[in-house]
Amino acid sequence: MDYYSNQISRLIEELSALPGIGSKSATRLAFHIINMKEAEVKRLAETLVEAKKNVKYCKECYTLTDDDLCPICKSSKRDHQTIMVVEHTRDLAAYEKTGKYEGVYHVLHGAISPMLGIGPEDIKLKELIKRLEGDIKEVIIATNSSLEGETTAMYISKLIKPTGIKVSRIASGVPVGGDLEYIDEVTLLRALEGRTSL
Ligand code: ZN
Repeated sequence: MDYYSNQISRLIEELSALPGIGSKSATRLAFHIINMKEAEVKRLAETLVEAKKNVKYCKECYTLTDDDLCPICKSSKRDHQTIMVVEHTRDLAAYEKTGKYEGVYHVLHGAISPMLGIGPEDIKLKELIKRLEGDIKEVIIATNSSLEGETTAMYISKLIKPTGIKVSRIASGVPVGGDLEYIDEVTLLRALEGRTSL
């Protein structure tokens, strides 16, 4: 990319390191940013830094939030005895969009993947088990239907079974390998309602 100035090349390089941004998009974004007003660029940069600084894990469910407890864990309207286990904060957001789930969540931040060298200790699993010492009635496992998601679901159900707490898995109406966040609300609800005990 010698035909661009160093600064522009660096900007393109940084942007193309982001997920889903190829070099074409990165170039387009870079030139868009260069053409923005300086105040706008400053605001964008500050928003990035502030978000990084202030966003943290909820102490209870480990979703991303900017407070000690997320709004869901804080709410007295939610059923705190039912925990839905999801892989990522974006999966939680997908279920929240349906507006029909009244329990709380637990965000693992990943799934077990022997192939990628991700073990149970690399996701927020210890934290889930710790929560089960409280008054919990049901754990709904809503990890993705990918190989990693299924492996994780099986692992979790084996861990929980001895505690006597009800464990269920969302129905597999969800396409195999499908990321929860891309599935429409009706399918998500059907998957939740059709969950089966493990
Ligand atoms: Zn929370």
